[in-house]
Amino acid sequence: MAAAGVVAGAMAGMQSAQAAQKFVSIGTGGVTGVYYPTGGAICRLVNKGRKKHGIRCSAESTGGSIYNINTVRAGELEFGVAQSDWQYHAYHGSSKFKKQGAYKDLRAVFSVHAEPVTIIASDRSGIKNITDLKGMRLNIGNPGSGTRGTWEVLEKALGWERSDLKLAAGMKSAETGAAVCDDKLDAYFWLVGHPSALTQESLASCDAHLVDATGPAIDKLVADNSYYRKATIPAGMHNNKADVTTFGVGATFISSAKVPDDVVYTLVKAVFDNFDQFKKLHPAFANLKPAEMITDSLSAPLHAGAVKYYKERGWM
Ligand code: GLU
Repeated sequence: MAAAGVVAGAMAGMQSAQAAQKFVSIGTGGVTGVYYPTGGAICRLVNKGRKKHGIRCSAESTGGSIYNINTVRAGELEFGVAQSDWQYHAYHGSSKFKKQGAYKDLRAVFSVHAEPVTIIASDRSGIKNITDLKGMRLNIGNPGSGTRGTWEVLEKALGWERSDLKLAAGMKSAETGAAVCDDKLDAYFWLVGHPSALTQESLASCDAHLVDATGPAIDKLVADNSYYRKATIPAGMHNNKADVTTFGVGATFISSAKVPDDVVYTLVKAVFDNFDQFKKLHPAFANLKPAEMITDSLSAPLHAGAVKYYKERGWM
């Protein structure tokens, strides 16, 4: 009896400690991408201050941008990483988000690294530019990824049907490198920061190369849409001797107006009070600058909790 009493007492103590603690989850992407370590880096800094603020942060591997936006919208995640093109469309209820309608409670927190369209092709495929993908076996991204959504836009812009590809695979990013090396795919397509573990690994483990994404269809797409911009993957970033010419979007960090201001404030403070440390947590963060992170690539309004911190720092 006495022992049971001790257990019950300990349980009651645990419950009150748990009640004081808030849990927040960040939706990211595949484990060999950059979203997953981005979520991990943010949580690491948040969790360092857990004793003070009581927030426990965890990063989840997910299908990517569109899944993250929809899951934040459903109230099942507090935060997510998402491509700037899909942040734009979700907020405005355009493109893939037309049926669901505008998501007016979507909030931007900050932007992170650039995500160029990145195509890795086997040397044996002979693919040199995006237009050479016609008739090839290509991974176009898993459902729920921003990658897949952007491929669908791109395909239309190129005037292609799905049947213009010999195979349009929907593998998760983490599986695509091995599929190219094993000759199950000629190439994989994704939007990702550089360097990423997957891109590095594929280019190191088989005869493969990065491919340009240029031409009149791309020029028009970039000219017509503010969330796209021309981009290069610099010479020497991977096994590329020359710059790879492409275009892309920005990775952004999003939340919902329903997430309390103090939670968003605490997270933003953890990142920007420790910014030098944050930048060291992933090589794709090397050139980040706060002034750009709070304005560039953001279409939804900034979350009020983030604005409070940016104003305190005199950035707004
Ligand atoms: N941009 C990709 C997507 O939304 C994810 C990239 C990554 O995992 O770093 O699908």
